[in-house]
Amino acid sequence: MGRMPGGMRFWWILLALFALNWFIVSQFPGEPERLDVPYTLFREQVTAGNVAEVTSRGDTIQGVFKREVTYPQGSDSSDTEFATERPAFADDELMQLLIDRDVEVNARPVEEGRSLLWTLLLSFGPVILIVALFVWLMRRAAGGAGGALSGLGRSRAKRYDATAQRVTFEDVAGIDEAEDELVEIVDFLKNPDRYRRLGAGIPRGVLLSGPPGTGKTLLARAVAGEADVPFFSLSASEFVEMIVGVGASRVRDLFAQAKAAAPAIIFIDELDAIGRARGGSASIGGNDEREQTLNQILTEMDGFSGSEGVIVLAATNRAEILDQALLRPGRFDRRVVVNPPDRDGRAAILRVHLRGVPLADDVSVEQLAQSTPGMVGADLRNLINEAALTAARREHERVRAGDFTDALERIVLGAERRIMISPAERERTAYHESGHALLGMLQPGADPVRKISIVPRGRALGVTFQAPDADRYGYGAEYLRGRIIGALGGRAAERVVFGDITTGAESDLEQVTNIARRMVGRWGMSEAVGPVSVLPGPDDQPMLFPGSPGTVSPRTQELIDAEVRRIVEECEDEAVRQLVEHRDRLEALARALLERETLDEADAYAVAGITRPVAPG
Ligand code: ADP
Ligand code: MG
Ligand code: ZN
Repeated sequence: MGRMPGGMRFWWILLALFALNWFIVSQFPGEPERLDVPYTLFREQVTAGNVAEVTSRGDTIQGVFKREVTYPQGSDSSDTEFATERPAFADDELMQLLIDRDVEVNARPVEEGRSLLWTLLLSFGPVILIVALFVWLMRRAAGGAGGALSGLGRSRAKRYDATAQRVTFEDVAGIDEAEDELVEIVDFLKNPDRYRRLGAGIPRGVLLSGPPGTGKTLLARAVAGEADVPFFSLSASEFVEMIVGVGASRVRDLFAQAKAAAPAIIFIDELDAIGRARGGSASIGGNDEREQTLNQILTEMDGFSGSEGVIVLAATNRAEILDQALLRPGRFDRRVVVNPPDRDGRAAILRVHLRGVPLADDVSVEQLAQSTPGMVGADLRNLINEAALTAARREHERVRAGDFTDALERIVLGAERRIMISPAERERTAYHESGHALLGMLQPGADPVRKISIVPRGRALGVTFQAPDADRYGYGAEYLRGRIIGALGGRAAERVVFGDITTGAESDLEQVTNIARRMVGRWGMSEAVGPVSVLPGPDDQPMLFPGSPGTVSPRTQELIDAEVRRIVEECEDEAVRQLVEHRDRLEALARALLERETLDEADAYAVAGITRPVAPG
């Protein structure tokens, strides 16, 4: 289907509706069926006393027979309602005859079919109603704060009020590089002349990108709080549900408002909702609106001369799927990556959110930061909240270290579930988790085992939790093999001890396959396949990898499968071998678990008789 500008399409749809309406109405005859009879037949019926009543105007007579009359003779058209024309030359004392025969003569106007007005109303009424309803709905959607005043394409952008719940850079921590960039922007908006004097170019668009929860929206709000300029914020996902043409006109309106209030900041959150790459198979259905909105943003940004003093700030979780056009110079030319915080960053974020939380003496922020690798700002805030709730439930005066540990456990491992488990199942689970844990402890360089438990949580009957001492950014092949061996440990233990396997190992196998496939297909860790990236990553566009493995030749595909299988099978053999060799340790762990249900780090290593690897630093 060809693309039409939204406005045009709207009128075409309207026209089609009218045509359809007209067609339907024209299928219904305007006049109720009456039997047309000759005047002579009418007179005969009057004379025979078969006419109940007549109405007439001019020479047209309509009336009702008492009994049905068939005309023409022998046909199947018969009725009691009839019409006839009285010849002008008839000089037959009709009135007298009617009176003699007791026919009611009344002055009701003869039916002439529908009036013109009626016809028009019937034809266009329904469509007018539909359109009115449509417009009303759109107005309501566009309404919001503006109420009755806000028109169809009016921007719903909120103008941030600097006084209400002001967020400042004080509230942002742990993402210093990103913060510095934005501090500079705020400085520019406050002292534009200092920059202009030096001929420094003013960024027009700044794109914040990074994983969810790292604080992008928070940063933007801090900019709003710090810069003493109007701040218009808008979530791009709001555009998506819009009706044809509305998104684009909202963008126009938003930019017009900002220009009028310049210097000002426009913030578009979740830009990926509209800024996704155009084309590709995804755009077959109903994406015109998104595209129009995107185009309008591009047009508006191109329209800047740079002296308006309007800066467009945008945030996205997935910069890599954005349309390349957005990233061209003159648009979002400044890219700020917001990374998950490192250990010091986490400590800083924790301190921000711990303001106002009374802490017991045994709580160490450094310790907390160390035990939360991979967590982002939003997670840390959530952790503190959970810990405070736990402390409140336990009626502690202050939040203690134990409250944090339990909160962290609940977040990472899931809440405990009280379900009945048969003793046999419990025993199997104990061996399964012991298998994971023992192999985790035995692989050199593996993440230390933090906790083993056979208390059911979420969907799992037991859990073994491993976490690194410090943040890790890259992984060696040896480490990854160790991960696979550990993940296969549950299954291997069941095989070694019971001789068979249960369905409990399903998610273990998913994890194993996942790691092995990426080793072969993305990280070049298989000699047979070689150092090529042959599998799509999670963020690759389908455009680049249509139909995922389709771009890979069938031969390579087979090779990948064979290599994945080889790696996993080697690891499984290794897992079984090590468990057989260390059977006594496996038994010790399982027995301890059956007895105590949960083993923490120190207990686990002690029971297994293995010295815990020393944390570096
Ligand atoms: P994003 O927009 O990147 O998905 P948000 O800005 O919405 O993340 O973060 C959600 C919440 O998490 C924030 O309101 C804040 O309370 C907390 N948070 C996230 N990152 C940080 C940070 N770097 N410093 C302080 N708090 C943070
Ligand atoms: Mg956000
Ligand atoms: Zn398992």
